[in-house]
Amino acid sequence: MSEPLHYFPKSYEESRAAFRSHLDKIKEKWPEAELTSETISAGEDNTIDMIYANARKSKDKVLFFTSGEHGIEGYAGAAVIHLFADEYLDQMDPDTTGICLIHGLNPWGMRNFRRVNENNVDLNRNQLYDEDSVPEDVNKYYEKESELFLPNGTITDLTKDKNELHAQLTKALAKEGYSAIKEAKGMGQFEFEKGVYYGGNKEEESAVFLKKMQHRLLSEYSKVIHMDWHTALGPTNEITMVASELEERDEDELKNLYGMKNIQKFTPKKVKGDSTNHFHKLRKEEYPDTKLFSALFEFGTFGEGKKAELREFTTIVLENRLFWEGAEKEDDRQWILDEFKAMFYPQEQEWREAVLKEGRFGIEAVLKKEEII
Ligand SMILES: [Zn+2]
Repeated sequence: MSEPLHYFPKSYEESRAAFRSHLDKIKEKWPEAELTSETISAGEDNTIDMIYANARKSKDKVLFFTSGEHGIEGYAGAAVIHLFADEYLDQMDPDTTGICLIHGLNPWGMRNFRRVNENNVDLNRNQLYDEDSVPEDVNKYYEKESELFLPNGTITDLTKDKNELHAQLTKALAKEGYSAIKEAKGMGQFEFEKGVYYGGNKEEESAVFLKKMQHRLLSEYSKVIHMDWHTALGPTNEITMVASELEERDEDELKNLYGMKNIQKFTPKKVKGDSTNHFHKLRKEEYPDTKLFSALFEFGTFGEGKKAELREFTTIVLENRLFWEGAEKEDDRQWILDEFKAMFYPQEQEWREAVLKEGRFGIEAVLKKEEII
């Protein structure tokens, strides 16, 4: 039963070392494969690591895996990449298929077990195709209920603070309605740099890097297959595919084609700066002849339903407040950090086994359909 443990390291550096060690295995199939490390946020040893190898004879298709866009979520993403290197590499044809694996798109967040990066930016709200298209005050409900989302002082008594937060949220729900508050969370915001769901006020280094790779793959290959690995959303211990609205097929069609139970689509009207959405838009505008599959894959933790949503919201808001304002009591600080880990990188053996099992299922569903394996 201890089998999954070595896929789930305790630190960013251990995870990165494991990733770097996949190069040898990949070189057995693609001798020209290269590992590159791009430093993000100068002065610290935080790098985006990438293993890249071109198809050896004809550039028909390329497999693209990205992990750690949301820092702490990268541990599960790296585990899936590790699993892939162990179990699926042999089934690929290096003559016609290239490979591009990315570890730790937000390395600072991964190292510090935060979801956002060193500038408090949610990188999945930072990749706008046309930056001028989004006004700074795009998120009206967030603005109206901003006290819900912004840090408001040191945490002195966690029980009291949690009760206050629940009362505030209940009031906002009554005033604005459930869908408005959900929209305020999902859309991201570009106004309050210490608030949750902040999309930044400039392009972050990680976003520049990812966009460059999107261009490169779309320009060089006939078909790009991209799986972006995340955690938290969807039913507990299950995998969920989250597709961009620009994906032309609807949810039922996708379910039939890929044989997956959990598939969701989001709309760019309600979500700004998402990276798979940027990928689809880029293809459509600049590389219309290239085929693209690109979606997020989430491993569920807290589950679905209003109770789970309240727990998620409370966790995100308290962790952000703890980061900016701190907590008086060590027990309170630890409780918040543990709850944050339970949401994005659970320690339970059961969840970790589910990541491997469901990860295999997702890899096979997509890569068989897309003729990668
Ligand atoms: Zn995520």
